[in-house]
Amino acid sequence: MSNVVVHAVDHPLVAHKLTVLRDAQTDTPTFRSLADELVTLLAYEATRDAQVEPVTVVTPVAEAHGVRFSGPRPLVVPVLRAGLGMLDGMVRLLPTAEVGFLGMVRDENTLHASTYATRLPDGLQGRQCYLLDPMLATGGTLIAAIRLLVDRGAASVTAVCLLAAPEGIEAVRKALGEVETPVRIVTAAIDERLNENGYIVPGLGDAGDRLYGTVSA
Ligand code: URA
Repeated sequence: MSNVVVHAVDHPLVAHKLTVLRDAQTDTPTFRSLADELVTLLAYEATRDAQVEPVTVVTPVAEAHGVRFSGPRPLVVPVLRAGLGMLDGMVRLLPTAEVGFLGMVRDENTLHASTYATRLPDGLQGRQCYLLDPMLATGGTLIAAIRLLVDRGAASVTAVCLLAAPEGIEAVRKALGEVETPVRIVTAAIDERLNENGYIVPGLGDAGDRLYGTVSA
């Protein structure tokens, strides 16, 4: 069995927000704030396996047995540039998380990902890591990013993606299926396919451009 688990969140709130994001008529400010809300909903699912330990508190009435986060702080890593638009939505539910950064760029001709910036702790032993990358398309960026975290000793890696393509999921499974570290992908939907330019169909277009507006170099 593969250690890569994929979870497409099936919820009307998620489906509604995603539909508005897909709409080409949705303007950048609306896109940004809806993406933020959608990520918070995905974060709820992505943190299902968060490490907790038992704790007892005293209510005004009696003792109550509950849990609190345990172990080393989780690490949230947005993949620049578009993953940055997902950061606030994620840390809203994980305010004590540490935040690292990973700059990766995809060559539009070869579709290969290369790293241009890394700001991460050297050792990630025992730490649950959450990668933020809105579009799991060919999988090249996500595979490279997950490998980097696994190589530094992450206890688990959960990728939070707004959308995923079947080809990308397959590529992640193929590349990382033998890795011992648990890998999860949490997404709002798995779309039909990739087109010849590596875009998700029907998708929502270029996530970075939709979040930030088109920026010329
Ligand atoms: N990156 C995007 O922003 N959109 C896609 O459809 C694929 C990759």
